[in-house]
Amino acid sequence: MTGIQMDSLERLKQHFAQRVIHQSRQLLEIWQNLHSTQWSSQELVSMQDAAQRLLRYAERFEQHAHLKIAQAMLDNLDAIENNNNRLNSQFIETITQLLQELLQTGLRQGESIDNVFLPPMVRKPLYVLLQDYEKAERFVQQMHSFSLQAEVFRDASSFLQAMAKRHPALIVLDVDFSGDEQGLQLALTLKNEHESNVPVLFYSSVEADAHIRLAAVRAGGQAFFVGELDAASVLEKVEASTRFAHTEPYRALVVDDSKAQATFTERVLNSAGIVTRAINDPTLALTELLDFDPDLIILDMYMPQCDGPELAKVIRHNDRFVGVPIIYLSAEDDLDKQLDAMSEGADDFLMKPVKPRHLVATVRNRAARARNLKSRIVRDSLTGLFNHTHILQLLDDARVRASKSTHALSFVMIDIDHFKQVNDTYGHPMGDKVIKSLALFLRQRLRRTDYIGRYGGEEFAVILPNTDAESAQKVMDDIRKHFSEISFPAQSRDLRCTFSAGVVEYSVEMDDIDAAQLAGYADEALYAAKHAGRNCVKIYTAAPKPSF
Ligand code: GH3
Ligand code: MG
Ligand code: MG
Repeated sequence: MTGIQMDSLERLKQHFAQRVIHQSRQLLEIWQNLHSTQWSSQELVSMQDAAQRLLRYAERFEQHAHLKIAQAMLDNLDAIENNNNRLNSQFIETITQLLQELLQTGLRQGESIDNVFLPPMVRKPLYVLLQDYEKAERFVQQMHSFSLQAEVFRDASSFLQAMAKRHPALIVLDVDFSGDEQGLQLALTLKNEHESNVPVLFYSSVEADAHIRLAAVRAGGQAFFVGELDAASVLEKVEASTRFAHTEPYRALVVDDSKAQATFTERVLNSAGIVTRAINDPTLALTELLDFDPDLIILDMYMPQCDGPELAKVIRHNDRFVGVPIIYLSAEDDLDKQLDAMSEGADDFLMKPVKPRHLVATVRNRAARARNLKSRIVRDSLTGLFNHTHILQLLDDARVRASKSTHALSFVMIDIDHFKQVNDTYGHPMGDKVIKSLALFLRQRLRRTDYIGRYGGEEFAVILPNTDAESAQKVMDDIRKHFSEISFPAQSRDLRCTFSAGVVEYSVEMDDIDAAQLAGYADEALYAAKHAGRNCVKIYTAAPKPSF
């Protein structure tokens, strides 16, 4: 094969990877819309179309893994169509599962490590319009190191042309772009004449007065940066405005002695994309709670074996379930009795017959809030990453899963180098900024299926499922390199930081090792990396047994 052929084959592959990611994303977007709408024939047709296109690309480029998933997706969509286009819990779970596989498969296609560990989705680019062109270019370089695409524009007309072709994820706009306050004007034009709803972040090289800030708000500005334009802060905004909603469908446990009522509730919730499990015997509730792990419980008030309030008490007596919302769904219309029932730790009371719309809205609101609260308990407030306790819990779960399969599992400990000096030289707020940046950086660079935690101060932990130690080392080394190239703007001299990392691969020979012990091995490797001069990634090797 000649070099030219290789080259075009490579490009073809790249092109294909883009298509797959695009198609996967379309499927996901339609599916995610279910969080705010109801399943209808329109959703069915859009999903079928998108899956069909994916199937065609997969066939053309002989991508068997994708082909299989696309086919399974189409089969399931057909089955839903044959079921009077009615979703049920099984369908919802299968489709969610297929989408997850699809996203992972899409990411594993490429051969270079960059392709393998591409950010979860190839996101839309950013458009950057600054009065100072060089500054804009520097900023774009920084965005690239966070693996985000960005384009710089020199004038309004080339920008508007680009807008007509493709909307970016976000626009960074100098209030004085192409003349005094002309940037503000441009934003207004976009909003009013082009009906654009792309978020705009305004920037001003000098302190802006109230009049300019107000104009920025009126022009639809989502944030206002003055002086330094630092990639990490902008990235935070990008994340907030482009992050996908939770992929996992909500789960509701329905407890009702009437089969007919339970079936009705299930149908209504299923059509809103909510996975349900119904039980008619309330004494089974605790077992089901453990097994099904619902986001919330829908409870009947009067049942023969035990009534709703009694069951609510039993549930609340269990520490694990204190946060799970309980909603009554009952024909009881006596307000006093309703209030009595609510006093036993329930959250809401819906009266039968309930309008499907009300039921769905109540379940969604309660489930969303419960998830939000739960995530606060498991997440670190500075970085939004999983906290120490939770990442170890996740590691333990991953270890159990890996021990039952043939998949590899790697765990990484990361520690920023000479971080004390950063605090001492640049101050504690700068230190915090570096920690936040590394958190964002890891989120950008790792896969959706990886878990990232803040282990402590300037230490991070990463769980990489389906990854052996060598691949984990390559990935971390790539991240290490790119992170070390970021420069944090500071008054005296820009700051650069490095980190060291230790990798351990879990193996079944490790017997009954628990998460903390596994973390200890990663820590040993990290120590070796520090010892080897820092700014490097080492793999844990069990101390060799003396051979004599
Ligand atoms: P080494 O290369 O060996 O890791 O050196 P180091 O200076 O990074 O290590 P050391 O553990 O001695 O210092 C870590 C410092 O991190 C000490 C602590 O004050 C600082 N730190 C811990 N948590 C935070 C935080 O949340 N914010 C900031 N700004 N600093 C923190
Ligand atoms: Mg440390
Ligand atoms: Mg350190």
